[in-house]
Amino acid sequence: MKILVASDIAEEGISKLKKEFEVDVKKGISKEEIMSIIENYDGVIIRSKPNITEDIIKKGKNLKVVARAGVGLDNVDVTCCQGCGIKVVNSPQASSESVAELAFGLMLAVSRNIARADRLTREKRWEKKSLMGYELNGKTLGIVGFGRIGRNIGRMAKACGMNLIAYDPPLTEEQIRAGGAEPVNLQKLIETSDVITLHVPLMPSTRHMISDKQFEMMKNNVIIINTSRGGIIDEDALCRAMKSGKVLGAGLDVFEEEPPLNSKLLEFDNVVLTQHIGASTHEAQKRAGIMIADEVIKALK
Ligand code: NAD
Repeated sequence: MKILVASDIAEEGISKLKKEFEVDVKKGISKEEIMSIIENYDGVIIRSKPNITEDIIKKGKNLKVVARAGVGLDNVDVTCCQGCGIKVVNSPQASSESVAELAFGLMLAVSRNIARADRLTREKRWEKKSLMGYELNGKTLGIVGFGRIGRNIGRMAKACGMNLIAYDPPLTEEQIRAGGAEPVNLQKLIETSDVITLHVPLMPSTRHMISDKQFEMMKNNVIIINTSRGGIIDEDALCRAMKSGKVLGAGLDVFEEEPPLNSKLLEFDNVVLTQHIGASTHEAQKRAGIMIADEVIKALK
């Protein structure tokens, strides 16, 4: 059988695949080229790009599996694959630790003004008084979405002396307590957290789940962390909440529009912005490559 690797996946994963299949690696391949060769392949592996759209799937007469190394299947027409009897697999657990570490890093960066202190120091401005921060120890962390990443950040926050509360309606209270957090409803989480961190999938029910109404209910000086998906927070509402002084600062890895070139968020000094790099570690990428190779082998055997 033949596999097309259409993205940059870890060498360890490619070696695994080569033991089982004929493998063609074509990173950065154009849509036109995929369209012209896809019928020769039994499986295709991608990352967040390229998109596997209906027209590609229809051309893939021999396709049996579409594999996305990493989380999220936004770039795969899953319904069309299912209709054509093509399996869709991914490796969502590969980056859970890395994303949680980034979220934790953003919490510290905001609470201790790390990015701003760096900027001022480079500008040769020694302004210690403006860099007074807050400890995380003893504060309440509200975790929205207590899945793989949410539980990992909970573990890290607990080690730092934080109290954990979590909102995750699909989980039972016992499951949340077993992960070390107190289960609460969204309103209680919003009203009582000193830091709120978001780890839910983006769906119609979670789009803008943090907007003006929620910001109004929050404690003053709350810190907001989002490493999930941009649309979960209403960015205009976040800007309003920062302008009013309600929000102390925010750490954001994801944006409603990426890259956020024209975002109003860029005007705020108390926002730490990263470039959707939650999964960008050597460990997570190696794990994603190996896991996706295993998934493809399982799907085709
Ligand atoms: P997961 O599926 O393990 O956990 C998500 C949790 O959210 C689940 O426990 C689910 O029950 C809960 N949930 C679903 N709907 C909810 C709702 N309306 N309210 C509260 N909880 C709800 O997912 P994960 O691997 O922990 O990933 C979490 C998020 O992180 C996803 O949005 C994912 O896309 C994102 N992510 C970002 C990066 C990055 O690079 N920044 C990398 C990987 C994942």
